[in-house]
Amino acid sequence: MPGIHETRRARLAALVADQGADFALVTRLVNVRYLSGLASSNAALLVGADGTAVLGTDGRYAGTAARVCPELECVVDRDTAGALGSRASGRLAFEAHDVTVEAHRELAAKLEGVELVPLGRAVEELRQIKDEDEIALLREACAITDRAFDAVLPFIRPGRTEREIAVALERSMVDLGAERPAFASIVASGPNGAIPHHVPGARVIESGDFVTMDFGALYGGYHADMTRTVAIGSAAGALRDIYDLVAAAQRAGVEAAVPEAATKDVDAASRDVIDAAGHADDFPHGLGHGVGLEIHEAPLLGYDKTGKLTDRVPITVEPGVYLAGRGGVRIEDTLVVRTDGAELLTKTTKELLVI
Ligand code: ZN
Ligand code: ZN
Repeated sequence: MPGIHETRRARLAALVADQGADFALVTRLVNVRYLSGLASSNAALLVGADGTAVLGTDGRYAGTAARVCPELECVVDRDTAGALGSRASGRLAFEAHDVTVEAHRELAAKLEGVELVPLGRAVEELRQIKDEDEIALLREACAITDRAFDAVLPFIRPGRTEREIAVALERSMVDLGAERPAFASIVASGPNGAIPHHVPGARVIESGDFVTMDFGALYGGYHADMTRTVAIGSAAGALRDIYDLVAAAQRAGVEAAVPEAATKDVDAASRDVIDAAGHADDFPHGLGHGVGLEIHEAPLLGYDKTGKLTDRVPITVEPGVYLAGRGGVRIEDTLVVRTDGAELLTKTTKELLVI
Protein backbone atom coordinates (compact mmCIF):
# COMPACT_ATOMS: atom_id res chain seq x y z
CA MET A 1 0.00 0.00 0.00
CA PRO A 2 1.46 3.40 -0.93
CA GLY A 3 2.31 5.69 1.98
CA ILE A 4 0.50 8.96 2.55
CA HIS A 5 3.26 11.06 0.99
CA GLU A 6 3.41 8.84 -2.07
CA THR A 7 -0.36 9.20 -2.46
CA ARG A 8 -0.04 12.99 -2.26
CA ARG A 9 2.73 13.00 -4.86
CA ALA A 10 0.59 10.88 -7.17
CA ARG A 11 -2.20 13.49 -6.87
CA LEU A 12 0.26 16.25 -7.78
CA ALA A 13 1.63 14.21 -10.68
CA ALA A 14 -1.90 13.93 -12.09
CA LEU A 15 -2.31 17.73 -11.87
CA VAL A 16 1.06 18.23 -13.58
CA ALA A 17 -0.02 15.93 -16.42
CA ASP A 18 -3.36 17.80 -16.65
CA GLN A 19 -1.46 21.06 -17.05
CA GLY A 20 0.53 19.63 -19.92
CA ALA A 21 3.80 19.90 -18.01
CA ASP A 22 6.45 17.19 -17.70
CA PHE A 23 7.72 18.00 -14.21
CA ALA A 24 6.87 20.13 -11.21
CA LEU A 25 9.61 21.74 -9.13
CA VAL A 26 8.20 22.25 -5.64
CA THR A 27 10.25 24.79 -3.69
CA ARG A 28 7.87 26.08 -0.98
CA LEU A 29 9.23 24.33 2.10
CA VAL A 30 5.81 23.65 3.58
CA ASN A 31 4.76 22.02 0.31
CA VAL A 32 7.93 19.92 0.23
CA ARG A 33 7.08 18.82 3.76
CA TYR A 34 3.52 17.93 2.74
CA LEU A 35 4.74 15.82 -0.19
CA SER A 36 7.75 14.16 1.45
CA GLY A 37 7.45 14.42 5.23
CA LEU A 38 10.75 16.32 5.45
CA ALA A 39 10.59 19.51 7.53
CA SER A 40 13.63 21.64 6.78
CA SER A 41 14.88 25.10 5.91
CA ASN A 42 16.34 24.04 2.57
CA ALA A 43 14.72 21.43 0.35
CA ALA A 44 12.93 21.03 -2.96
CA LEU A 45 11.11 18.23 -4.69
CA LEU A 46 10.95 17.33 -8.37
CA VAL A 47 7.80 15.42 -9.29
CA GLY A 48 7.40 13.98 -12.76
CA ALA A 49 4.07 13.76 -14.56
CA ASP A 50 4.66 10.00 -14.49
CA GLY A 51 4.75 10.03 -10.65
CA THR A 52 8.50 9.72 -10.15
CA ALA A 53 10.01 12.04 -7.54
CA VAL A 54 13.47 13.22 -6.43
CA LEU A 55 14.16 15.14 -3.24
CA GLY A 56 16.88 17.76 -2.91
CA THR A 57 18.30 19.09 0.35
CA ASP A 58 21.65 20.08 1.82
CA GLY A 59 24.02 18.18 4.08
CA ARG A 60 22.31 19.36 7.27
CA TYR A 61 19.14 17.42 6.45
CA ALA A 62 20.47 14.47 4.43
CA GLY A 63 20.36 12.12 7.42
CA THR A 64 16.86 13.19 8.40
CA ALA A 65 15.67 12.78 4.81
CA ALA A 66 17.06 9.23 4.70
CA ARG A 67 15.10 8.43 7.86
CA VAL A 68 11.85 10.30 7.07
CA CYS A 69 11.50 9.50 3.37
CA PRO A 70 13.78 6.54 2.58
CA GLU A 71 11.68 5.75 -0.51
CA LEU A 72 12.86 8.97 -2.21
CA GLU A 73 16.12 9.42 -4.08
CA CYS A 74 17.86 12.35 -2.40
CA VAL A 75 20.22 14.78 -4.15
CA VAL A 76 22.46 16.55 -1.62
CA ASP A 77 23.28 20.01 -2.94
CA ARG A 78 22.88 23.47 -1.41
CA ASP A 79 21.32 24.73 -4.66
CA THR A 80 18.35 22.39 -4.40
CA ALA A 81 16.30 24.01 -7.18
CA GLY A 82 19.22 24.13 -9.59
CA ALA A 83 20.27 20.55 -8.89
CA LEU A 84 16.76 19.17 -9.29
CA GLY A 85 15.90 21.41 -12.25
CA SER A 86 18.84 20.00 -14.17
CA ARG A 87 17.17 16.58 -13.91
CA ALA A 88 14.07 17.89 -15.71
CA SER A 89 13.32 18.15 -19.40
CA GLY A 90 10.51 19.59 -21.50
CA ARG A 91 8.07 21.79 -19.56
CA LEU A 92 9.00 22.37 -15.93
CA ALA A 93 6.24 23.84 -13.77
CA PHE A 94 7.55 25.95 -10.87
CA GLU A 95 5.92 27.68 -7.91
CA ALA A 96 5.85 31.26 -9.15
CA HIS A 97 4.43 32.46 -5.81
CA ASP A 98 7.61 31.21 -4.13
CA VAL A 99 10.50 31.64 -6.58
CA THR A 100 12.01 35.13 -6.49
CA VAL A 101 12.73 37.03 -9.69
CA GLU A 102 16.43 36.51 -8.99
CA ALA A 103 16.08 32.76 -8.40
CA HIS A 104 13.99 32.44 -11.55
CA ARG A 105 16.66 34.21 -13.58
CA GLU A 106 19.37 31.90 -12.22
CA LEU A 107 17.26 28.81 -12.82
CA ALA A 108 16.42 29.82 -16.39
CA ALA A 109 20.10 30.47 -17.13
CA LYS A 110 21.06 27.07 -15.76
CA LEU A 111 18.38 25.01 -17.50
CA GLU A 112 18.93 25.35 -21.19
CA GLY A 113 16.25 23.75 -23.31
CA VAL A 114 13.81 23.50 -20.39
CA GLU A 115 10.66 25.62 -20.57
CA LEU A 116 9.70 27.12 -17.22
CA VAL A 117 5.93 27.42 -16.76
CA PRO A 118 3.92 28.39 -13.64
CA LEU A 119 2.52 25.54 -11.56
CA GLY A 120 0.11 27.79 -9.69
CA ARG A 121 -0.96 26.94 -6.15
CA ALA A 122 -1.53 23.28 -7.02
CA VAL A 123 0.01 21.92 -3.82
CA GLU A 124 -1.83 24.46 -1.64
CA GLU A 125 -5.07 23.31 -3.27
CA LEU A 126 -4.26 19.67 -2.55
CA ARG A 127 -3.49 20.62 1.05
CA GLN A 128 -6.94 22.14 1.68
CA ILE A 129 -8.72 18.81 2.15
CA LYS A 130 -7.13 16.99 5.07
CA ASP A 131 -6.90 13.25 5.63
CA GLU A 132 -7.99 11.85 8.99
CA ASP A 133 -4.40 11.61 10.25
CA GLU A 134 -3.94 15.33 9.68
CA ILE A 135 -7.27 16.08 11.39
CA ALA A 136 -6.18 13.97 14.37
CA LEU A 137 -3.05 16.13 14.76
CA LEU A 138 -5.13 19.29 14.48
CA ARG A 139 -7.59 17.90 17.05
CA GLU A 140 -4.73 17.36 19.50
CA ALA A 141 -3.30 20.84 18.79
CA CYS A 142 -6.73 22.30 19.63
CA ALA A 143 -7.13 20.13 22.75
CA ILE A 144 -3.78 21.43 24.05
CA THR A 145 -5.00 24.97 23.33
CA ASP A 146 -8.22 24.37 25.31
CA ARG A 147 -6.28 22.90 28.24
CA ALA A 148 -3.82 25.80 28.29
CA PHE A 149 -6.73 28.26 28.47
CA ASP A 150 -8.18 26.37 31.45
CA ALA A 151 -4.78 26.25 33.14
CA VAL A 152 -4.12 29.97 32.72
CA LEU A 153 -7.61 31.28 33.63
CA PRO A 154 -6.84 31.54 37.39
CA PHE A 155 -3.73 33.59 36.53
CA ILE A 156 -5.75 36.26 34.68
CA ARG A 157 -6.60 38.96 37.19
CA PRO A 158 -6.09 42.67 37.86
CA GLY A 159 -2.40 43.49 38.20
CA ARG A 160 -1.15 41.10 35.53
CA THR A 161 0.21 42.55 32.32
CA GLU A 162 -0.86 41.47 28.84
CA ARG A 163 2.63 40.16 28.24
CA GLU A 164 2.59 38.04 31.40
CA ILE A 165 -0.66 36.42 30.30
CA ALA A 166 0.67 35.79 26.78
CA VAL A 167 3.82 34.16 28.19
CA ALA A 168 1.73 32.08 30.61
CA LEU A 169 -0.44 30.78 27.74
CA GLU A 170 2.58 29.94 25.62
CA ARG A 171 4.42 28.28 28.50
CA SER A 172 1.34 26.27 29.36
CA MET A 173 0.87 25.03 25.78
CA VAL A 174 4.47 23.82 25.64
CA ASP A 175 4.12 22.16 29.08
CA LEU A 176 1.00 20.39 27.78
CA GLY A 177 2.80 18.94 24.75
CA ALA A 178 2.90 21.62 22.06
CA GLU A 179 6.04 21.88 19.91
CA ARG A 180 5.71 25.64 20.35
CA PRO A 181 3.00 28.29 19.99
CA ALA A 182 1.47 28.20 16.51
CA PHE A 183 1.93 31.99 16.19
CA ALA A 184 2.73 35.01 18.36
CA SER A 185 -0.08 35.08 20.92
CA ILE A 186 -2.34 38.11 21.12
CA VAL A 187 -3.51 39.41 24.50
CA ALA A 188 -5.38 42.70 24.16
CA SER A 189 -6.89 44.32 27.24
CA GLY A 190 -9.20 47.27 27.77
CA PRO A 191 -8.90 49.81 24.92
CA ASN A 192 -6.22 47.65 23.26
CA GLY A 193 -9.01 45.18 22.49
CA ALA A 194 -10.00 47.51 19.65
CA ILE A 195 -6.79 46.53 17.80
CA PRO A 196 -7.41 43.15 16.11
CA HIS A 197 -3.72 42.15 16.06
CA HIS A 198 -2.50 44.00 19.14
CA VAL A 199 0.98 43.02 20.34
CA PRO A 200 0.76 42.19 24.07
CA GLY A 201 2.63 44.77 26.10
CA ALA A 202 3.06 46.24 29.55
CA ARG A 203 -0.55 47.33 30.04
CA VAL A 204 -1.82 46.12 33.43
CA ILE A 205 -5.20 44.40 33.51
CA GLU A 206 -7.84 46.38 35.41
CA SER A 207 -11.19 45.42 36.85
CA GLY A 208 -13.87 46.12 34.27
CA ASP A 209 -11.61 45.31 31.30
CA PHE A 210 -12.51 42.95 28.51
CA VAL A 211 -9.45 40.88 27.55
CA THR A 212 -9.15 39.20 24.15
CA MET A 213 -6.73 36.28 23.87
CA ASP A 214 -5.88 34.80 20.45
CA PHE A 215 -3.48 31.87 20.62
CA GLY A 216 -2.94 28.26 19.63
CA ALA A 217 -0.64 25.27 19.90
CA LEU A 218 1.53 23.74 17.19
CA TYR A 219 1.41 19.95 17.31
CA GLY A 220 2.90 17.53 14.77
CA GLY A 221 3.30 20.48 12.39
CA TYR A 222 -0.42 21.44 12.62
CA HIS A 223 -1.65 24.82 13.86
CA ALA A 224 -4.51 25.42 16.30
CA ASP A 225 -6.13 28.86 16.42
CA MET A 226 -8.59 30.03 19.09
CA THR A 227 -9.75 33.39 20.43
CA ARG A 228 -11.73 34.04 23.57
CA THR A 229 -12.70 37.34 25.17
CA VAL A 230 -13.28 37.41 28.94
CA ALA A 231 -14.43 40.14 31.31
CA ILE A 232 -12.46 41.06 34.42
CA GLY A 233 -14.44 41.56 37.63
CA SER A 234 -17.66 42.65 35.97
CA ALA A 235 -19.18 42.84 32.52
CA ALA A 236 -21.15 45.99 31.95
CA GLY A 237 -21.77 48.63 29.34
CA ALA A 238 -21.57 48.49 25.59
CA LEU A 239 -19.08 45.62 25.40
CA ARG A 240 -21.48 43.27 27.21
CA ASP A 241 -23.96 43.71 24.33
CA ILE A 242 -21.14 43.52 21.78
CA TYR A 243 -20.16 40.17 23.27
CA ASP A 244 -23.62 38.72 22.70
CA LEU A 245 -23.62 40.12 19.15
CA VAL A 246 -20.25 38.60 18.26
CA ALA A 247 -21.25 35.26 19.82
CA ALA A 248 -24.43 35.24 17.69
CA ALA A 249 -22.44 36.13 14.57
CA GLN A 250 -19.93 33.38 15.34
CA ARG A 251 -22.72 30.78 15.74
CA ALA A 252 -24.22 31.87 12.41
CA GLY A 253 -20.84 31.48 10.72
CA VAL A 254 -20.28 28.00 12.16
CA GLU A 255 -23.77 26.90 11.09
CA ALA A 256 -23.15 28.16 7.54
CA ALA A 257 -19.85 26.28 7.22
CA VAL A 258 -21.14 23.23 5.35
CA PRO A 259 -19.79 21.38 2.29
CA GLU A 260 -20.57 23.18 -0.99
CA ALA A 261 -21.14 26.53 0.77
CA ALA A 262 -19.42 29.42 -1.02
CA THR A 263 -16.77 30.89 1.26
CA LYS A 264 -18.21 34.39 0.73
CA ASP A 265 -21.65 33.15 1.86
CA VAL A 266 -20.17 31.77 5.09
CA ASP A 267 -18.58 35.17 5.67
CA ALA A 268 -21.91 36.85 4.90
CA ALA A 269 -23.86 34.62 7.32
CA SER A 270 -21.78 35.99 10.16
CA ARG A 271 -21.23 39.52 8.83
CA ASP A 272 -24.96 40.10 8.23
CA VAL A 273 -25.62 39.66 11.97
CA ILE A 274 -23.05 42.34 12.78
CA ASP A 275 -24.22 44.64 9.96
CA ALA A 276 -27.83 44.39 11.14
CA ALA A 277 -26.76 45.68 14.55
CA GLY A 278 -25.16 48.73 12.94
CA HIS A 279 -21.54 47.61 13.36
CA ALA A 280 -20.60 46.89 9.73
CA ASP A 281 -17.59 49.21 9.90
CA ASP A 282 -16.40 47.72 13.18
CA PHE A 283 -15.67 44.26 11.68
CA PRO A 284 -12.73 45.07 9.38
CA HIS A 285 -11.39 41.61 8.56
CA GLY A 286 -12.41 38.36 6.89
CA LEU A 287 -14.38 35.73 8.79
CA GLY A 288 -11.67 33.11 8.86
CA HIS A 289 -9.08 30.99 7.12
CA GLY A 290 -7.92 27.45 6.57
CA VAL A 291 -5.47 25.95 9.06
CA GLY A 292 -3.07 23.05 8.71
CA LEU A 293 0.67 23.00 8.13
CA GLU A 294 0.34 26.81 8.05
CA ILE A 295 -1.58 29.03 10.42
CA HIS A 296 -3.18 30.88 7.51
CA GLU A 297 -3.81 28.79 4.42
CA ALA A 298 -6.47 28.16 1.80
CA PRO A 299 -9.41 28.59 1.88
CA LEU A 300 -9.79 32.20 2.99
CA LEU A 301 -13.28 33.23 4.11
CA GLY A 302 -14.19 36.79 3.16
CA TYR A 303 -16.80 38.79 1.29
CA ASP A 304 -14.34 39.22 -1.60
CA LYS A 305 -13.18 35.58 -1.73
CA THR A 306 -14.14 32.88 -4.19
CA GLY A 307 -14.35 29.12 -3.76
CA LYS A 308 -16.44 26.58 -1.92
CA LEU A 309 -16.03 24.57 1.25
CA THR A 310 -15.61 20.81 1.09
CA ASP A 311 -15.79 17.89 3.48
CA ARG A 312 -12.65 17.57 5.68
CA VAL A 313 -11.53 21.19 5.29
CA PRO A 314 -10.45 22.73 8.63
CA ILE A 315 -11.18 26.44 8.96
CA THR A 316 -11.50 29.12 11.60
CA VAL A 317 -14.62 31.22 12.19
CA GLU A 318 -13.60 34.43 13.94
CA PRO A 319 -15.85 37.48 13.76
CA GLY A 320 -14.96 40.50 15.86
CA VAL A 321 -16.27 43.94 16.68
CA TYR A 322 -13.77 46.64 17.57
CA LEU A 323 -14.70 50.03 19.06
CA ALA A 324 -11.80 52.47 18.78
CA GLY A 325 -10.61 53.73 22.16
CA ARG A 326 -13.06 51.51 24.05
CA GLY A 327 -12.20 47.89 23.38
CA GLY A 328 -13.35 44.91 21.39
CA VAL A 329 -14.59 41.34 21.29
CA ARG A 330 -13.48 38.49 19.03
CA ILE A 331 -14.53 34.84 19.30
CA GLU A 332 -12.74 32.24 17.21
CA ASP A 333 -12.98 28.49 16.84
CA THR A 334 -11.09 26.02 14.71
CA LEU A 335 -13.49 23.49 13.18
CA VAL A 336 -13.60 20.89 10.44
CA VAL A 337 -16.23 21.14 7.73
CA ARG A 338 -18.03 17.77 7.60
CA THR A 339 -20.93 16.41 5.58
CA ASP A 340 -22.73 15.52 8.80
CA GLY A 341 -22.12 18.92 10.46
CA ALA A 342 -19.09 20.91 11.55
CA GLU A 343 -16.71 19.18 13.97
CA LEU A 344 -15.66 21.78 16.53
CA LEU A 345 -12.01 21.25 17.49
CA THR A 346 -11.66 24.10 19.99
CA LYS A 347 -14.17 23.36 22.73
CA THR A 348 -13.64 26.11 25.31
CA THR A 349 -16.96 27.66 26.34
CA LYS A 350 -18.23 30.71 24.46
CA GLU A 351 -20.39 31.85 27.39
CA LEU A 352 -18.99 35.16 28.61
CA LEU A 353 -16.61 34.34 31.46
CA VAL A 354 -16.42 37.00 34.14
CA ILE A 355 -13.27 36.32 36.15
ZN1 ZN B 1 -6.55 33.48 15.91
ZN1 ZN C 1 -7.34 32.89 12.94
